[in-house]
Amino acid sequence: MVSARQRMVSVLGSTGSIGVNTLDVIARHPDRFAVYGLAAHSSVATLLAQCLAFSPRYAVMMDEAAADALRSQLPADSGTEVLQGESGLSRIVTAAEVDTVMAAIVGAAGLPSALAAARAGKTVLLANKESLVMGGHLLMQAVRTSGARLLPIDSEHNAIFQCMPVNPTTAEPSLAGVGKVLLTASGGPFRQWSLARMETATPDQACAHPNWSMGRKISVDSASLMNKGLELIEACWIFDLAPAQVEVVVHPQSIIHSMVQYLDGSVLAQMGNPDMRTPIAYGLGWPERLESGVAPLDLIATARLDFEPPDEGRFPCLRLAREAVDAGGTAMAICNAANEVAVAAFLDERIRFTAIPLIIERTLEKMPILEPTSLAIVEEADTEARRIAAEQLESGLRGERRIGKV
Ligand code: NDP
Repeated sequence: MVSARQRMVSVLGSTGSIGVNTLDVIARHPDRFAVYGLAAHSSVATLLAQCLAFSPRYAVMMDEAAADALRSQLPADSGTEVLQGESGLSRIVTAAEVDTVMAAIVGAAGLPSALAAARAGKTVLLANKESLVMGGHLLMQAVRTSGARLLPIDSEHNAIFQCMPVNPTTAEPSLAGVGKVLLTASGGPFRQWSLARMETATPDQACAHPNWSMGRKISVDSASLMNKGLELIEACWIFDLAPAQVEVVVHPQSIIHSMVQYLDGSVLAQMGNPDMRTPIAYGLGWPERLESGVAPLDLIATARLDFEPPDEGRFPCLRLAREAVDAGGTAMAICNAANEVAVAAFLDERIRFTAIPLIIERTLEKMPILEPTSLAIVEEADTEARRIAAEQLESGLRGERRIGKV
């Protein structure tokens, strides 16, 4: 039953790493939250278990066969209706009953639903960084026009949000007195690997993140530092920063999740154990703080906090993302799409890890950059970039040994 004080939440990508952590936090606060909708691509068993545990009004499967399978396995009296595809997603995002949408679908596929949530004026907990990278202009415009509230869930942006000054009139974060943002990066599993060794990296090695447990796509992005590049772009959109105001700092312990440096010399940092339930609980509870299940930080046990500059020679994806944000327009969508194609090919063991930046760079070189004034233009750039990136795969990058400019 939904009580008057409960907030209604839809979780998009509920079967993934962020989705599961979101439901873990929600389960700790049954008095505060009820689940309206859950959505996934095709993980029937996990979505079925989530439906039985949370009794959502709707469960959405993108895949038709998976939707049929879920429908047939749900008990008749479950109270959950199974929907399929984009129209189902749209229903659980825009319904009047929904207060909060967790946007945690992986990749470009998450843009239309995040945009729909923003246009519908919901509180959008944004984990899907790719939607901002692709369509930041559209998403931020939708937030401003509809009065939606966007709360960043990516741990770095959540940290920055927590350290930013707040405009006393609007209660929005402001840049008053801010010099720059220090975006921390763990450096990923290959921080100390040579380029030659990286050429031999396997998907499992790339996904073995030293501090965070995440989905496979973002784990590869962390290993290549493209994740930090995507986050740089994300920070510029969310906080209205110029790219030069974002400095990437490698911090291998992942205890400081990012910092804000003020003009008076102060630096505010947000710290905690690397566990996504902290930013998720912050987003769900905002402006209050909720218990999240995360173990308290033990600084004595942590003992040291190290910092070093990123090595763009060994990790060219960071440079490519910086070049894309400098180029503006659809360059960021192209960069994102080419990266998704390259990462999927690497995870399928069709290309080497070191071919990922080559595919992105060649795709960027081959495409015109347009003004991203509509979703259609962004989606066209995404589709064309995927086609060109796939061509690079076919044209022999599988065995490519060099990295950087070609
Ligand atoms: P996972 O791969 O673990 O989960 C992805 C989720 O998206 C699954 O529920 C999956 O469903 C669903 N999905 C995949 N494709 C589609 C589609 N076409 N339509 C609808 N749903 C789809 O990813 P993560 O949870 O790791 O990441 C989710 C997002 O959050 C990413 O954008 C990532 O960058 C961001 N993020 C993740 C962090 C983390 O710690 N994991 C940290 C910060 C940001 P199914 O299971 O059925 O395939």
